[in-house]
Amino acid sequence: METEMALAIIKPDAVRKRHAGEILSMYEKHPSFKIRGIKLIHMDRKTAEGFYEVHKERPFFEELVSFMMSGPCVVMAIEGKHAVSAHRDFIGATNPAHAQEGTVRKRFGSSIGENAVHGSDSAENGMKEVNYFFDLSDLVDINWAHINA
Ligand code: ADP
Ligand code: MG
Repeated sequence: METEMALAIIKPDAVRKRHAGEILSMYEKHPSFKIRGIKLIHMDRKTAEGFYEVHKERPFFEELVSFMMSGPCVVMAIEGKHAVSAHRDFIGATNPAHAQEGTVRKRFGSSIGENAVHGSDSAENGMKEVNYFFDLSDLVDINWAHINA
């Protein structure tokens, strides 16, 4: 099966509001997502600026970096068939006000900046972003058949 990797981040706004568990539960129940890596981190400026490097010329860059450094967040490596686009559908539009009902951002986002979650935008960036936060050798492949036996 052709699988892709996407990086997901439960952002500091959601962690602060104690929504991380409910959001994680949505990931856990998704039929085609495998969580291959997960950790709680608190980004420093260098990490946040490096991660959002592509946005450095955008007017909201400093606001975005400050927000991402403002508290802990949960980073996850998600694998699945067409994981990147499936994950973008699952999180919803950047602005929670425009996100579809049932998406993570609709449920838990509060503004275009504080929108609860991050999702990679291409298979290439998914791989790059997973690599930014994880050593690929640390990713775990859960054997569901074994666990359910
Ligand atoms: P997405 O996260 O949906 O891929 P972008 O890549 O365009 O969206 O932007 C990255 C992040 O920057 C957004 O998730 C959001 O947190 C923040 N952001 C985007 N646009 C704005 C804006 N106009 N004002 C403040 N923050 C923004
Ligand atoms: Mg983006």
